[in-house]
Amino acid sequence: MKRKSLLVLPIIAALLLGGCGKTSSGVSTAAKPKIGVAIYKYDDNFMSFVRRSIETAGKDKASLIVNDSQNDESKQLDQIDTMISKGVKCLAINLVDPKAAPTVITKAKAANLPVIFFNKEPDASVLQGYDKAYYVGTASKEAGILQGQMIVDQWNKNKDKWDKNKDGKIQYVLLKGEPGHPDAEARTKYVIDTIKAAGINVEELAIDTAMWDTAKATDKMDAWLAKQGDKIEMVIANNDAMALGAVASLEKTGYFKNDKYMPVVGVDAIPDALTKITAGEMLGTVLNDAKNQGQATFDLSFNLASGKSVVEGTNWKLDTDKSVRVPYVAITKDNISVAQNAYK
Ligand code: BGC
Ligand code: CA
Repeated sequence: MKRKSLLVLPIIAALLLGGCGKTSSGVSTAAKPKIGVAIYKYDDNFMSFVRRSIETAGKDKASLIVNDSQNDESKQLDQIDTMISKGVKCLAINLVDPKAAPTVITKAKAANLPVIFFNKEPDASVLQGYDKAYYVGTASKEAGILQGQMIVDQWNKNKDKWDKNKDGKIQYVLLKGEPGHPDAEARTKYVIDTIKAAGINVEELAIDTAMWDTAKATDKMDAWLAKQGDKIEMVIANNDAMALGAVASLEKTGYFKNDKYMPVVGVDAIPDALTKITAGEMLGTVLNDAKNQGQATFDLSFNLASGKSVVEGTNWKLDTDKSVRVPYVAITKDNISVAQNAYK
């Protein structure tokens, strides 16, 4: 009898509260701030996880308007106008074109609205030009450095087998993300700088953008394999979606069977890449923590939309560029559970 009434009471309380515009978590619906979010395109493997994280974080606390900018900056700018006219209290923007940040800031300033940019980093000077603008992402070069260190470690252990032409150099092909994207540019530079700094010589057999995309990466890799064949000793990809595209091409060409192997590295640690690492068809990746980047994007937006200061009541720290940078983590078979937990 006693147990029953204990269970029933909160249900009645919740029903009563529901009647006066509150959710079961006790947050008044009227007080839920509107936050306007734009994702550069939904059709981006990694960004789909960031979006999910923002939506999960905001579910009970805010009223989110989320837009697919379909890789079209002018569409995104229209979406921003519409969100402003709908009365959002903060904008969270994953730019299509990082160079469009000043235009977004002009719109936000005119409406006296804060802006959290995320994933595509605007120039530091642009952020400094508006006191209500911030960035959530990573330190782009860190991913290249960690990827480079992983390659150095593994090459030193396996070079007897991997150095096919026995010249002591790594003959690599590199699949680059979107040109001009700070992550793509920094990862491409720092992975190679890191390998060279460790005293390993490299030879670039091919480099091209596959725009972060699996199908485009398969096409590139098909062409490179047709032209260079066994000369290729390593595949370096700026993200996992493209690494997976390369793996698909290698599988078709008979790799990963009967001792035919190619080391392939990516960045992100998306679940499909973890499956390939477990299967031995990817050497490793670098965790790009979608969950925490989404959480930080929401937390900062929510604070500003609620009139609080930007990192109040959170564990996030701003650097001198007014940015929250979530750390990267190198992932191989040995610590794969770290990445599995981050994408749950
Ligand atoms: C991720 C890529 C993604 C890109 C989108 C990068 O940080 O590693 O997978 O396509 O962001 O802007
Ligand atoms: Ca070689």
